[in-house]
Amino acid sequence: MTPIPQTDPHAGYLEQKAAIDAAVARVLDSGWYILGREAEAFEARFAAYVGVGHAIGCGNGTDALELALRACGIAAGDLVFTVSHTAVATVAAIERAGATAVLVDIEEGGFCMDPAALEAALKAPPKGRLAAVMPVHLYGEPAALEKIVALARAYGLRLIEDAAQCHGARYRGRMSGAIGDFGCFSFYPTKNLGALGDAGAVVTGNAELAAAAREIREYGWRDRYVSAVTGINSRLDPIQAAILGAKLDTLEAGNARRQAIAARYDSGLAGLPLTLPGRRGGTTHVFHQYVVRTPKRDRLREHLRQAQIATGIHYPLPVHLHPAYRGRVPVGPTGLCRSEATAREILSLPMYPQLSDDAVDRVIAETRRFFL
Ligand SMILES: *Cc1c(COP(=O)(O)O)cnc(C)c1O
Repeated sequence: MTPIPQTDPHAGYLEQKAAIDAAVARVLDSGWYILGREAEAFEARFAAYVGVGHAIGCGNGTDALELALRACGIAAGDLVFTVSHTAVATVAAIERAGATAVLVDIEEGGFCMDPAALEAALKAPPKGRLAAVMPVHLYGEPAALEKIVALARAYGLRLIEDAAQCHGARYRGRMSGAIGDFGCFSFYPTKNLGALGDAGAVVTGNAELAAAAREIREYGWRDRYVSAVTGINSRLDPIQAAILGAKLDTLEAGNARRQAIAARYDSGLAGLPLTLPGRRGGTTHVFHQYVVRTPKRDRLREHLRQAQIATGIHYPLPVHLHPAYRGRVPVGPTGLCRSEATAREILSLPMYPQLSDDAVDRVIAETRRFFL
């Protein structure tokens, strides 16, 4: 029996080996190894893909979030409202910008920010300036943006989308990441658009915010060697930019394949005592992960492991329960019960574009066998 991995960036490389090898060789032969034409070319193509005026490449997705916050002028004393059911990077970036994260719960039966919990937190905030809201489009589906946008407007907040898991997902016809003041992307190798190393980008339609992010990305330079503001160093590696250019050519096809795999899981797993991922109306889900829920999660995971099927848990602990954050990150008045319950029951099944129908069917058959 061949093992089935949960994700497989190497398969993505092999599928495009000729194009990627050529892209890497092009950069090596160019003699230019920091930013430059390759980085600019990818930024322009990615901005056009997302449908915004500006993309600024950077070192990784965490830096992208930090750059967006800093470019919005967010700093110490500012409150940024986000979720606890997310990659730790979301909260880490807020703290690196010097701001305070305020954690709110996720929706009943869903995985993204609950607008009602956000509103309750905005009405009873801890000490500080209400500065921004940072929804996370977890697993490939946009959060409930309509209500979140309305609250951001009503309270005068910046809206910064953590779009690290939803490259190509649409919300009412618009690309996710293009709706807020900033959309922040990670190109970590396993993401829907993945580099072969670390990389990230912020996108925005606002030329001033774009200029600010661009300066902060490289020491706060406006003119070379002269820092106009305090910045960081988080440049997009041109080798990764060239690879990302090749990968962008297949992103839509890869997302379509992920959706086909999800549909196959949906029908194959129907009728089991297992909660399958729902779909929000008016959005496309690009299935960065296909996440099921069951109180028997740990036993199901072990059963699949013995059948050589790898699964993931994204994420085993909400951020407020990590040792580093426990007891010191402010929480909205409605608490984080759903985030805690969800973390105990979620399981990410194998999901990547090169996963074959036969492999999907084996996952389905073994899952059915577990519940017999
Ligand atoms: C991957 C990810 C990040 C961070 O990206 P890195 O490139 O690993 O720094 C941030 N937020 C979410 C939701 C992610 O999935």
